[in-house]
Amino acid sequence: MKGDRRVVIVICDSLRNDLVTEADAPFLVALAARGTRFAAHKSVFPSTTRASSASIATGCLPARHGLYGNTQALDEGEGLVCRNVGAPDFRDRMRRATGRTLRVPVLAERLRWHNEAAIVCSNVSPGAAYFQDPDGHGTVYHAAGSYGPGMRELDDPASAALKKGIAGDRAMTDRFCADIVEGRAPALALMWLSEPDYTGHHAPLGSPRHREAIRAADRCVRQVFETVRRLDPSGDDILFMAGSDHGMETISESIDITALLVAAGIKQGPRSSDVVVAPQGTSATIYFSDGARGRAPETAAFLTRENWAGRVVAGAELAKVGLPIDTALQVAVAMATDARVNAHGIAGYGAIVANPEDNESKIGFGQHGGLGINEQNPFLIAEGGGFAVRTETRPTSLIDIAPTVLRHLRMDHDDMDGRALPLSA
Ligand SMILES: [Zn+2]
Repeated sequence: MKGDRRVVIVICDSLRNDLVTEADAPFLVALAARGTRFAAHKSVFPSTTRASSASIATGCLPARHGLYGNTQALDEGEGLVCRNVGAPDFRDRMRRATGRTLRVPVLAERLRWHNEAAIVCSNVSPGAAYFQDPDGHGTVYHAAGSYGPGMRELDDPASAALKKGIAGDRAMTDRFCADIVEGRAPALALMWLSEPDYTGHHAPLGSPRHREAIRAADRCVRQVFETVRRLDPSGDDILFMAGSDHGMETISESIDITALLVAAGIKQGPRSSDVVVAPQGTSATIYFSDGARGRAPETAAFLTRENWAGRVVAGAELAKVGLPIDTALQVAVAMATDARVNAHGIAGYGAIVANPEDNESKIGFGQHGGLGINEQNPFLIAEGGGFAVRTETRPTSLIDIAPTVLRHLRMDHDDMDGRALPLSA
């Protein structure tokens, strides 16, 4: 095995950088002390899991990879309709509507010539799992269905039994360590934990339940790391990275942007396809049919006047937040956030964009999707693979992970939006 370079990555969904503390994440704190901690690591926009998953897999911003959030409007022949990217069938809808899935190759595709190329184990939504490898170049294990190279369906009872939450993450970690990191030893092994995101969406940030979820994720990372360093004590061959996709803000109120646009006369009706709001938690992307495209500027002006709206971008400005300028998506709004502190001492509040498909109240719990400083504050630690022991304070991003993987595997990595992370100061 000596000399076989490979990469092992663990993503702790939603774990905010400032919540990686000695009390709740003692292993991550210790890991940071023996590798590089990226202190100014940033999310993409929208800061949703599915767009983030595609950015981690491709090294590109949403503008280039083509997945614009947790929901996305597609025209499958009957006008624009907002679809849930998390649903198992979204990938096929996207292929029907646009002729493809992502517009740029994922790591699994770039590594496909390896014997065991890329293996992903994910306990988040099917959409977030499948956009790690939407066209089946490597292997993806997920409760909603697993597949191997060539999109060959895999009957995998261990994955089928997984449920989001602490117990499911623990079971996935046992399997990931034994069968994948140690057993199959692929060039890239990536595991995506559901915690602390799952609990953070259903409990106040910093509450005992949320802190227990952080501790559970920390234990999973420790287990993977101990497996990795038992196999490669020197750290020369196996690069280990642990990080998150975004952080969270606490939800103060819910805003029904669709209803407001209808009331303002900008959108014809709640389900009309002229102007379509795609909710992204604490942000929204807004799509316009060809006939309604001229209403984009007044939509942006309307949103800008609302006190719950933070940054509003439209038209060519979309490029500044990493979104495309040449699609039906013509306006994006990130909800305003503020520094109020919740009952458990955790700062950061913002409004959520109401989602008609999900009417469970989120008020007082964690959420993300926008540009607030806390939701845009994921953590990242790299250990082994030549990374020095230090803290990097220059800005880094989710899109820097994929080029770092390729550099470690001695492959070209200069055609991505991101740049390989610096090994030393
Ligand atoms: Zn996430």
